[in-house]
Parts: sequence; C-alpha cells; structure tokens
Amino acid sequence: MIIKAKCRNCNKEVPSEQFKLHYKLRMMVCPDCFRGKTQMQQEKEKAQLEKPPKPPGWDIEDDYLEKHQRMKEKEKPQFKKIPGTNHIECTCRGCKYAFKYDPFRKKPRTCPFCDEEIPKVNTFSLL
Ligand SMILES: [Zn+2]
Ligand SMILES: [Zn+2]
Repeated sequence: MIIKAKCRNCNKEVPSEQFKLHYKLRMMVCPDCFRGKTQMQQEKEKAQLEKPPKPPGWDIEDDYLEKHQRMKEKEKPQFKKIPGTNHIECTCRGCKYAFKYDPFRKKPRTCPFCDEEIPKVNTFSLL
C-alpha cells in the first residue's frame, strides 16, 4: 500500500516515499516542487497575469509609436520645480497660464486665471 502525503508547497498528494528535502524551502516537498517545476509553473502564471497578451496585429511599429507617445507626454510637464524654493511652476491645462504653486499647502486650488482645477501633484517627485 502506498501512503500518500500532501506536499506543503503545492498541496498535491504524492506517495510519501517520493518526498525530498528541499534545501531552499527547508521542507519536504514532492518531486515536482523539488525539481522546481511548481515554481516555474507559478512564475509562468504570474507573468501571464501581469502581462496581458498584446492585441493581435501589434507589431514593432506600434511599440515604437507607443514609446514615442509616452516620451512626448513627458516633454511637457505641467509642473516645474522652481530651483531654490518649495514652490513649483504650474502650467494650467485649460488656459496655459503659468503660475506659482505651493505643493505642500496645495495652494492655490484652482488656476487663478480661469479657475480650472489643479491636478494632484506627487510632491515626492519634486523633492
Ligand atoms: Zn509540491
Ligand atoms: Zn487656467
């Protein structure tokens, strides 16, 4: 009779005689876990979850365009640090009016020119 035991790493039931001590996990694991198969599978699944497959028709040119688009967005920052002060220069999205903005007291709350709301600033990125 074969005595089966549950692998503590992957919850699979395996004949207990096949268990081996894993040097990294410091416990008895099934042959799959011992060979790293379980870990590889988990990592593969994780990678698939994190990176959704690209839409069909996606090619290098799209990739380039997307990168280019992101760079373009970076080129015109809405906020610019004013050197030597805690203030930043904010350019209004609505009217392109540039004014001094205090990111720590969050003042002013709206554009002094057209009253457009000022988006939240990540103050950490400005320090
Ligand atoms: Zn296992
Ligand atoms: Zn404005």
